[in-house]
Amino acid sequence: KDLKNADLKKLADLGQGNGGSVEKVEHLPTGTIMAKKSVLIDAKSAVRKQILRELDIMHECQSDFIISCFGSFLAEPNICICMEFMDKGSFDGIYKQVGPLDAEVVGLVALSVLEGLTYLYDEHRIMHRDIKPSNILFNSEGQIKLCDFGVSGELINSVANTFVGTSVYMSPERIQGSGSGYSVKSDVWSLGISLVELALGSFPFTDPPDDDDDLSDLEDSPDATRTPTHRDSFILTQKTAKRQSRRKSKLAFNPDGQLSTMSIFELIHQIVQEPSPRMPERFPQEAVDLVDICLFKDPEQRQTPKSLLDHSWITLVRESDFDIRAWASSF
Ligand code: ADP
Ligand code: MG
Repeated sequence: KDLKNADLKKLADLGQGNGGSVEKVEHLPTGTIMAKKSVLIDAKSAVRKQILRELDIMHECQSDFIISCFGSFLAEPNICICMEFMDKGSFDGIYKQVGPLDAEVVGLVALSVLEGLTYLYDEHRIMHRDIKPSNILFNSEGQIKLCDFGVSGELINSVANTFVGTSVYMSPERIQGSGSGYSVKSDVWSLGISLVELALGSFPFTDPPDDDDDLSDLEDSPDATRTPTHRDSFILTQKTAKRQSRRKSKLAFNPDGQLSTMSIFELIHQIVQEPSPRMPERFPQEAVDLVDICLFKDPEQRQTPKSLLDHSWITLVRESDFDIRAWASSF
């Protein structure tokens, strides 16, 4: 209630995404540690107020699998969202620190994300829209929670550059901008990709062999920073993709440096045409099966988060006595 920048003392930088930046802050009047996300938005004041109203849904989210929200406010030209601070950070950082994750941990991520998605959909009729390891947070209590879900359609529309970096987790139907749009099953695809990424310790779509490494012509060109903007789902024709591929628009898919030379065209080709990534062999058969089901190309064949909660791998995970708190204190 009545949060404002004057009461917040910055303690550390937590990271930066395409939409904004996140800081660890202390709320001085109460001593509460929070994570403050600042999003630079391009919107008129009526729209900004609408965004704030939409963000209020976040207050009503009460789930062990969803990050809780202390409040949001305008600090021109940003919108600031103050949320629960998760001291172990996000799972992209975790696997980069400790390497490929074991089945017990990945299983708990699967369970927690499915619970979070089911809660968001059943209680609030919202889909997440941006499932990826950096939006799955962890703390030393061993809790796993989702953040950055799509509560505000207006916010999604107003953030500059929502395209960059998020698209590598997009489902085939979403990346093709298919007419009917997409559903909560697109979140299930993104979960499948994220689980394989945690298990492999790297992003599952591979860099195609380099035919030409010369990207220098692109560095200073104004076009290199111009990426397609999208509203709910962007429409990117293969023709556009091919043209961008020829121009080697390396900035278009560069979430964290992993995909530096992969072009939009090649990525779309892999997502749409190539066999879906799979869990490594060392994982239990149930885990391999759950991910296979998440990564059906046809969204009709994919299950909802709710029905995946009944999957045999999730049952195994629930019955396991793996000590996630002990694991949390091991790094
Ligand atoms: P992205 O999710 O694309 O990496 P964000 O701006 O959403 O970009 O977040 C930047 C980083 O801040 C994330 O990678 C995550 O590690 C960190 N972060 C976000 N929210 C929190 C939080 N509530 N507690 C701790 N760390 C957070
Ligand atoms: Mg994020």
